[in-house]
Amino acid sequence: MHKPGNADETDVRSRTRDEVRKRFADGAQYIAGRLTRGTSGHTHTVVDPSTGAEVYTYETAGAEDVDRAVAAARAAFPGWSGATPGERSDALHRFASVLADRAEEFARLESLQCGKPLKLTREFDVPGTIDNTAFFAGAARHLQGQSAGEYSGDHTSYVRREPIGVVGSIAPWNYPLQMAAWKILPAVAAGNTIVLKPAELTPLTSLLFAEAATEAGIPDGVVNIVNGTGKEAGEHLVGHPDVAMTSFTGSTAVGRRVAEIATAGVKRLHLELGGKAPFVVFDDADLEAAVQGAVAGALINTGQDCTAATRAYVQRPLYEEFVLRTAALMESVRLGDPFAPGTDLGPLISHVQRDRVAAFVDRARASARVVTGGEAPGGDLAEGAYYRPTLVADADQDSEIVQSEIFGPVLVVLPFDDDDEGIRLANDTPYGLAASAWSRDVYRANRATREIKAGCVWVNDHIPIISEMPHGGLKASGFGKDMSLHSFEEYTQIKHVMFDNTAVAEKDWHRTIFGDR
Ligand code: NAD
Repeated sequence: MHKPGNADETDVRSRTRDEVRKRFADGAQYIAGRLTRGTSGHTHTVVDPSTGAEVYTYETAGAEDVDRAVAAARAAFPGWSGATPGERSDALHRFASVLADRAEEFARLESLQCGKPLKLTREFDVPGTIDNTAFFAGAARHLQGQSAGEYSGDHTSYVRREPIGVVGSIAPWNYPLQMAAWKILPAVAAGNTIVLKPAELTPLTSLLFAEAATEAGIPDGVVNIVNGTGKEAGEHLVGHPDVAMTSFTGSTAVGRRVAEIATAGVKRLHLELGGKAPFVVFDDADLEAAVQGAVAGALINTGQDCTAATRAYVQRPLYEEFVLRTAALMESVRLGDPFAPGTDLGPLISHVQRDRVAAFVDRARASARVVTGGEAPGGDLAEGAYYRPTLVADADQDSEIVQSEIFGPVLVVLPFDDDDEGIRLANDTPYGLAASAWSRDVYRANRATREIKAGCVWVNDHIPIISEMPHGGLKASGFGKDMSLHSFEEYTQIKHVMFDNTAVAEKDWHRTIFGDR
C-alpha cells in the first residue's frame, strides 16, 4: 500500500492544488471566453478524495449564469455555424495540439480532482481526449447530406445536414475530461455552440479544456462551462428556451428527470445512462485471459465506469477456478496514492460514494459470499475514500447486487449451465450499455454478439474504446451515440430542399386544387 503524502507526491499534489487556486481565482464559470464567479449565492468545495483535503472552493452557477452562458453561445452560433468545415477543422487541429502540449497539466489536475492514479490519466484519459479532438478535427470535413436526385421527375431534391443551435450538455464525475470532450467535440465540429455543465464534484478539467479551446483560437462563446448543481443550473439549462438540444450523461434516474424537462420543451435529446455490463465466460474460453480481463474490466477507474465488467457469468466447469483466480488477482492490485508511481488503484470519487458502495456489499452479505475485499482499507489510506477490490459469489440473479449499478470496485460472479442460460442471464437487467463474451469458438462468440442486447459487445476483451467507433446504450442505458461519425446524427438535423425544374406556373399536381380547368 502506498501512503498518500510521501515527499515527492506531496510536492506534485500541493503544486497542482496551488496552480488550481491561482488559475481559477476569478471563478469557475467559463462564459464567452473568460472566467467569472457563479451568482447562485452558494459555494462548492472540490475535495481530494485520496486524502479528504480541500482543493478549491467555487461559487456555483445560478439561473442568471446559465442565461448568460446560453446568450453567449447563441451570439456565437451564426459565426461558428457559418464557418466552413475546413475552418472548423483547422481550429480543432490547433485545439488537439494545444491539448498535447499541456497533457501533463491535464493529467495532474484530473488525478487531483478524481483520485485517479496518474498512470491512468496519463495513459488513458488525456491521450484519449487528444485523439478524440484530432478525430473530430478530421470528421468536421465529412459532414454530408445525401446526393441530389430528380425523385419526382419535375424537381431536384437534396438533403442538407445542418447544426442544431445551442446544445446544453450535462456530464458526470467519473471521467470529467473525457465526458467534456465527448460532449463538446462532435457538437462544435458540426457547427453548434455549447454550454456544458460538469458534475459539481469535478469542475476543473472541463474549465481547462474550454480555456485550451480559446487558446487554440475557437471563438469566444462557442464553448461555455457552467459549474453548478444539477437541480439549479442543470434543470435551468435543460429547460432553457434558447437551448435546442440536451445531451446528458449520468445515471438513469437523473436521465429520466432530464428527459421530462427536455420533452416538455420538444427538444432533441441524447441520453447516455447507467450500465451493468455482463461478462460471459463460456467453457472453452482462455481462462487466464478471462480472469485478467475480468479484474482489469471491473477495476478500471476504481469501478466507476459505466461499461465496467460488473456481472461475470461463468460456465459451470470453469466457475470455481475462475472465482479463486480472480480473487487472488484482485488481492494483488495495489491501492495507494494517485500520485505515486506504484499505485494501481485510487480511491472512489468521494466518501459518500465509498459508503454507498460499502452499503451495497453489506446488504448482499445475507444471501451471497464476499470472497475478497468488502471493506475499506485502514492504516495510511484510512482518510481517503478507498475501498478494497471486492468479489462477490453465489448471489441470486434477482438480488440488488446483480441488478443495480454499484459504480465501485465490485464484481459479482455467477455460474451458468448452457449457452442459452448464459445469454439469458446477461440480458436480464434493465441496462444495455456494454457486454463481453469470452470463447475460442467463433460461432458461440458470434451468437453472443448477436443476442446480447447492449450498445457494445466485446469478444475476448472488455473496456477498449476508440474515437472511430460509437459509444452508447440500449434499453435503460439510453439512446444516441457519443464519438465516431455516428455522433453527428445526434448533433445535426437534416433538411429536405426541393427545386422545381419545370418553370411553369400551373404545376401538374395543381389539378387536385383547381379541378380540370
Ligand atoms: P448523476 O446522474 O448523479 O449526475 C450526472 C450529472 O447530472 C451531474 O452533472 C449532475 O449535477 C447532473 N444532475 C443531477 N440532477 C440533475 C437534475 N435534476 N437536472 C439536471 N441535471 C442534474 O450521475 P453521476 O453520479 O455524476 O455519474 C455516474 C452515473 O453516470 C452512472 O450512472 C454512470 O453509469 C453514468 N455514466 C454513463 C456513461 C455512458 O456513456 N452511458 C458514461 C459515464 C457515466
